[in-house]
Amino acid sequence: MESINIVWLKRDLRTQDHAPLHAAEKAGKPYRIIYIFEPSILRHPDSALRHQQFIYHSLIEMNRTLQQYERKVEIFHAEAVEVFKDLINQFEIGTVFSHQETGIEQTWLRDKEVYNYLKNEGILWKEYQRDGVVRGITNRDGWDKNWFVTMSEPTIENTFSRNSSRKTFQNAYPLADEFKKQLEDYPTFFQPAGEKNGWRYLTSFADGRGFDYNRHISKPAKSRKSGGRISPYLAWGNLSIKQAYQFVKKHENLKSNKRAFGAFLTRLKWHCHFIQKFEVECEYEHTCINRGYELLPHESDPKKLQAWKDGKTGFPMVDACMRSVIKTGWLNFRMRAMLVSFLCHHLDQDWRDGVYHLAHQFLDYEPSIHYPQFQMQAGTTGINTVRIYNPVKQSQDHDPEGEFIKKWIPELVIVPIEHIHEPWKMTELEQSFCGFQIGRDYPPPIVDLQESGKIARTKVWGHRKNQAVKDDSKRILATHTRAGRRNP
Ligand SMILES: Cc1cc2nc3c(=O)[nH]c(=O)nc-3n(C[C@H](O)[C@H](O)[C@H](O)COP(=O)(O)OP(=O)(O)OC[C@H]3O[C@@H](n4cnc5c(N)ncnc54)[C@H](O)[C@@H]3O)c2cc1C
Repeated sequence: MESINIVWLKRDLRTQDHAPLHAAEKAGKPYRIIYIFEPSILRHPDSALRHQQFIYHSLIEMNRTLQQYERKVEIFHAEAVEVFKDLINQFEIGTVFSHQETGIEQTWLRDKEVYNYLKNEGILWKEYQRDGVVRGITNRDGWDKNWFVTMSEPTIENTFSRNSSRKTFQNAYPLADEFKKQLEDYPTFFQPAGEKNGWRYLTSFADGRGFDYNRHISKPAKSRKSGGRISPYLAWGNLSIKQAYQFVKKHENLKSNKRAFGAFLTRLKWHCHFIQKFEVECEYEHTCINRGYELLPHESDPKKLQAWKDGKTGFPMVDACMRSVIKTGWLNFRMRAMLVSFLCHHLDQDWRDGVYHLAHQFLDYEPSIHYPQFQMQAGTTGINTVRIYNPVKQSQDHDPEGEFIKKWIPELVIVPIEHIHEPWKMTELEQSFCGFQIGRDYPPPIVDLQESGKIARTKVWGHRKNQAVKDDSKRILATHTRAGRRNP
């Protein structure tokens, strides 16, 4: 039986700065590269076809690069342990190389199962650190310094030998035909997948798109151009954080764009900071970060929830944001925060009722950022300032001409600019002048904004005084912040 090693790809779909691929090359033994679409993970409520399509097209691109070395990523469609069982029937496997995965509880449990299985078979599983995220730490002392040290180390220049594994490989678990067809059919209005496109976006950001990064960061339309837009490439590992960090840090345009590029680089660290949080506590997917917020009741109104999901709340900026993210898979930070704030504060719905809906829409879905960020905006951490965004003010401040609103809500194109942010305030006469009718062409607002804001503020800030919230805040500060910041 042929003796080989395996590289198991997860959220690291690139051919450069890739420690597991590098280790497999250095081991000097034939190796195969695999990716597994696992049915149990695909069935999890956070999973969306657009994520799988992005993964699939990233793999196709990797295969184009690897072709010259007669290598390819073998794609499986089965549970991970079943795939390894099958590989063990065909090969003598020495070592499995992969990156550590900071994921939801389910992938953590899957990893444990795979680890035990491989151990029983006498196979070593070597996992490599990802993006400066450290496994097994119980507090943040020294974390920031280590992160900067990691980011300044050279990136790995992967080289590939010609594939020397000669055995014809029988994939017992190829992609099911129907699923493959769905994966291939990737809509063009999503960002194109893969390593090359990741570099294209990063390069164009540093070459010019990013000069207005700070100025436009909160604007839903303009940030689409001036934002980094590398989030899907980082989320699925087409780019490593270190590659992005070093590229911008060393770029000739940094000197003349210090504020903009500096803010971008800070966010790369935030990215890892959030992943580190989740690495320590992946329960954030379904449990309030501050357990004291489990005691806070919510209205739970399926009609309001559905209106939010469909982008039909009657608040133009909320609806435009929702419809745009459904269609394109991307939204800037401020508007993501506003959508969550509106759901959890103005509509008084439990954050868990909306968290998967947005996970499905985000092409850059990264559980480690998504759940902690969602909860921060929902006000369930007990340690962060709670911002209750007023969607009308956000609209007036960041889309004064209604350009973004009109793009995503065609029903409002005929509404005059002075009414675009609050169309329900038009008199009947004004509505009839422009052939528009609230309730017929566009829904009336589903809540009274002043009233719902007032109730939310009392509720959220009032609950902060709850003893359970205060007690858990201490635990959170001790686990997730640096020593000097624990007792401000
Ligand atoms: C409710 C909510 C859910 C979110 N879910 C995700 C998610 O699933 N995946 C995701 O990548 N980002 C998420 N974010 C953070 C942020 O909105 C996106 O990273 C950002 O909009 C991506 O656009 P960009 O690449 O142009 O970012 P840029 O502004 O160019 O930033 C560069 C990179 O830094 C990281 N980054 C930027 N802002 C943040 C932030 N606030 N926290 C952590 N990392 C950040 C991202 O990796 C981003 O690609 C979420 C924010 C909120 C409020």
